[in-house]
Parts: sequence; C-alpha cells; structure tokens
Amino acid sequence: MDRHPADTGLDLRHQWMPFTANRSFKAAPRLLVGAKGVFYRSADGREIIDSLSGLWCVPAGHARQEIKQAIVRQFDELDFAPPFQTGHPAAFEAASRIASLMPAGLNRVFFTNSGSEAADTSLKIALAYHRARGEPQRTLLVGRMRGYHGVNFGGMSVGGMPANRKAFAANLLPRVDHLPHTYSREHQAYSRGQPDWGAHLADYLETNIIALHDASNIAAVIVEPVAGSTGVLVPPKGYLERLRDICTRHGILLIFDEVITGFGRVGAATAAERFGVTPDAITFAKGVNNGMVPMGGVVVRQDVHDTIVNDSPPGIEFFHGYTYSGHPLATAAACAALDLYEKEALFARARELEGHFQDLAHALKGERLVQDIRSFGLAAGIDLEPRPGVPGARGFEAALCAFELGMWLRTSGDTLAIAPPLVAERAHIERMFETVRKVLKTLP
Ligand code: PLP
Repeated sequence: MDRHPADTGLDLRHQWMPFTANRSFKAAPRLLVGAKGVFYRSADGREIIDSLSGLWCVPAGHARQEIKQAIVRQFDELDFAPPFQTGHPAAFEAASRIASLMPAGLNRVFFTNSGSEAADTSLKIALAYHRARGEPQRTLLVGRMRGYHGVNFGGMSVGGMPANRKAFAANLLPRVDHLPHTYSREHQAYSRGQPDWGAHLADYLETNIIALHDASNIAAVIVEPVAGSTGVLVPPKGYLERLRDICTRHGILLIFDEVITGFGRVGAATAAERFGVTPDAITFAKGVNNGMVPMGGVVVRQDVHDTIVNDSPPGIEFFHGYTYSGHPLATAAACAALDLYEKEALFARARELEGHFQDLAHALKGERLVQDIRSFGLAAGIDLEPRPGVPGARGFEAALCAFELGMWLRTSGDTLAIAPPLVAERAHIERMFETVRKVLKTLP
C-alpha cells in the first residue's frame, strides 16, 4: 500500500481529471500505459487485470486488431464527413446494424458521442415527439433516485446521484420528478439475479407522480434497466413490466438508458431483450464500438421518428446534432465491433459465464466488511460497510488497494463494481474475485 510510484516523467499539472480525486492522484499517480485482452499495463511495468471492462465499455477486450484495422481503413478512405446535410456509408451501415440488434419496432438511430449526450438527446426527442403529436404541454421528465444518465444538464437533472448534482443543484432542469430507487437491503439482501421484492415501487409513477402532475403533462420516464453506476441495482421481478404498463396507459414515453447494459453485459444485445420489456427508446454508448472511439446514440420506435420527421414542414425536422454524430472512425469501429461480437458469440458467452461469475461474487458473503452483494449478467455490486463518518472512504481505499494488488477496481461510494470483459476466461474472473477477497482482508 505504501509503495511510491516511480516518477512518471510527465507534467501532471495541466490535465484536470474527470471524476477523479485530482490531488490524491497526482500525489500518487496510477498511470496506465498499455492494454491487451483483459489486462492493462501500468507505468511501473505491472499487469493490471481489468475488472470493469475499462469503464464498462470494452466487452471484446483490449487491442482488438479487427477494430484497429477497420479504423485505419476508414481513416485512409474518409477521415471526416460533416454529418449535417451530408452522409457517409459507415454511419448508415452502423445504424442498420444497431437497429437489427434492438427489440422489434425500435429501428431509427440518432448518433451522439457519449452516453451523456445520448441521454439528453433522448429527452429532447421525447419533447419534440409530444410537440409534433399536438401535446406540447407534455414537458415533465421523470427519472429515478440513484439513476445515472451522464453529466449534461438533462441527464444530471433526471439522474439521482446526489454527489453529481450538489454543486449544480440551483440550476437543474425545472420540470423533473423522480421515482424512488428500487433497492431495499431489508427486503433484498444478497439476492442473486432479480430480487423478488419491489415490483410495487413502479406504482409510485401512477399513485404519486401522475397523481401530482397529471399524465397529460408528462413526456417521458427514463431509467436504467439495471442501474449500473450507483452500484448494480437489479430491477425487482415485475418492476419494469409495471413501468411499461403505466407508461403505455398514460401515453408517456419509456426510455431505457442502456449505456451500460447494451451490447452483451446482461447476456443479450439489450436488457430490454433479456427482461422481455420493450421501451420506446434505448440509449447506448460504451460497448457499441468496444469503447474504441467516443460514440453513443439513441434508438427509437419508428413511429416516434416518423411523427417528428414525416409530419414536419420541408427542411430540417429536428434541430439537434453534434459535429461528430456518426463520426466515420467511430461508426467503422462500431461495425467491426458488432462483427466481432457476432463472430465470437459474446452475448451468449456472457450468459454462459454468468452462473460461475455470480457464484464467485456471492461466495464473498461473510467476508469482513461485506454488507450486500447483487448480481445480474456479468455485473456485480458489493456493498462495503462505510467507515463511520466518512462515507466513500473505504471504497476509495479498496480501489487503491486493488491497484496495488494488480487490479483495476471501480468503486462508487463504498460499493465495488465488477464487470469483466465478456472475453474473460474463467481463470481471469476467479483472479478478480480472489483479488477482491485479498482487498477485504487487507483493508484497515
Ligand atoms: N448513462 C448511463 C446509464 C451510464 O452508465 C453512463 C456512464 O457510465 C452514462 C449515461 C454517461 O455516459 P458518458 O460517460 O459516455 O457520457
């Protein structure tokens, strides 16, 4: 724990690092200088096993040559094309490929460069849709406590992670309400897969939010089907079905934010498919191109698209988009990544590994400091007992300790998250959980 990192030879002062304890990092940097398969290499020459697929974004593992070649080919052919009023083949091909993986009916794809932009785009689509339908008063956006939809103003406003909102609370979007989160340790502790308790929490939408605001004023509900960033909260059995039913009955769009759950994490192309619940829109990012080039997007039901586009006067139908929407390198990487996922049957592989993965996760029950373990697909959240008076401190120490022991471990507060690349071998996954066990024994 007290080994001091070698001098990096870099001037670390100028990069203001995102979601990072900058002062602590710069005092003891954890620099990654290489990656291959399920491992990083640190600046001091150690192998660091990647227990979170980067940031949930590298399902096929690092340094996949097929994706590199596709990016290089695309670069040589067409490096950049303006996405406004011109198009290029890779973006259309990627959109078709992505649509083919979505639940039936969701087949119109709008590209962004990140999950945050995807979330905000989905909210704007919801507003534009209701306006085009002649219900412009439907402007209220409903998120959920402990939800994470990125850091832009829309996603942050519907999100429910207090630390992410605190500094900006005075100027969040005004027309927002929140569902309660679905976690109860009392009723769900150590549940594997979907908890039995909690479907009724969806009813809050009807009994409280619709009762208060009236459905005719509500544009959309956005939820992560499995809440990832807050520490892997798995939806109770029947919960998503009830949300779907209430939204349908009241003409409210249901958006699944699948930035984490999309592209194999839950053993299917989408959580919508795995749970058998079809929303009206799905946001994606991360795994869409194995995290190789920034990219995200929103897939919507065809009639949502048609309502906005076909019923509009001639000219631009939706005044929204990014300079890099559908960037040639990003979309070429997406096509190559989707090829790889198919060729290596990675979504099915995640499903096959899930039993062993979850056995290993739940085998940590009873270790010191562990208060709860949740798991779904190839994702697990492990709650540690917070250090009295300093919430989050123990989680941070766990991450530092894991790095010392040769593992990249992501923590959210005092919750550890494990989500290996889908190409990980059983032995890799075993090593990840063994490292967690060592961390738990080592922590003060
Ligand atoms: N939505 C969800 C569900 C996420 O998990 C994330 C990132 O983890 C985002 C949105 C934001 O994505 P990005 O960091 O690419 O903006």
